[in-house]
Amino acid sequence: MKIICLGTGCPEPSVRRASSGYLVEIGEDRVLLDCGGGVFDRLIQSGRRPSDITHIFFTHLHSDHMMDYARLVHAAWDEGGAPVKVFGPPPIAEITEKLFGRHGVFATDLIARTENPGSQEVWEERGGVLPRPWPEPHVVEIEPGHRIDAGLWCLSSCNAPHAQPQLTCMAFRLDTADASFVYTGDTALCDDVETLARGADLLIHWCYRMVGDEAHPFIRSMSPDAVEIAQLAGRCRVKQLLLTHLRTAMDDATSRDKMLYHMRAHFSGKADIAEDLMVIDLAAPQSHGQ
Ligand SMILES: [Zn+2]
Repeated sequence: MKIICLGTGCPEPSVRRASSGYLVEIGEDRVLLDCGGGVFDRLIQSGRRPSDITHIFFTHLHSDHMMDYARLVHAAWDEGGAPVKVFGPPPIAEITEKLFGRHGVFATDLIARTENPGSQEVWEERGGVLPRPWPEPHVVEIEPGHRIDAGLWCLSSCNAPHAQPQLTCMAFRLDTADASFVYTGDTALCDDVETLARGADLLIHWCYRMVGDEAHPFIRSMSPDAVEIAQLAGRCRVKQLLLTHLRTAMDDATSRDKMLYHMRAHFSGKADIAEDLMVIDLAAPQSHGQ
């Protein structure tokens, strides 16, 4: 199992970080967890193509976890790729229909691309066959607790306290025969996520607050700091911990050093801060970089 961090930031614009997105490569499958703004470009920078993606899973439908969804689906379709399998909480089916349906946001574009003679000519020249079909992502709405067995891998999920009741929010765990990876999405500390993360080879946990930052009392209760996350990782006996979803105000060298100090003081496993385009190969000796 290889994990490529395609987006380790938050909704704020950042040169350093795209919004949330993690590509997991297992066998021939290319599983994308979340697809926030900038993830599409990071995918291309990593050397992959939009049509390489076989599955997309959304933890929740905050914009910074799905802003590049439309771009990815459209680009994969334009490459002539097979329809991607999409899993996420409601209303992902309605959102997809509103984007790519016959009366959707992209209907005028899709009518032009499929019916204009010039576009048809280019499509055929690229090996396509007429009539050109529309994008048809296969969407399945899921709820916390949903489990998918894909043969080589299985995905488990649990509730992640974050933006309920307006949004359904989940954490995900991917297991193969020889590796396990947990991605929390955005979450408060809770027993369900702790159970999900137990014994994982890699835990990627969001961190939206510095130790001692008490500025927003509600956010305080919903977003654990680096010490609390490191302690959680220790209780779960995970092998490796990466913090992600850093706010811009937490993303200077001094703040990152503080987070690393706190993590390493409270967790004996491998601890680091996720960076865009970081690669973690769980099937081979641990390595970072491209
Ligand atoms: Zn969120």
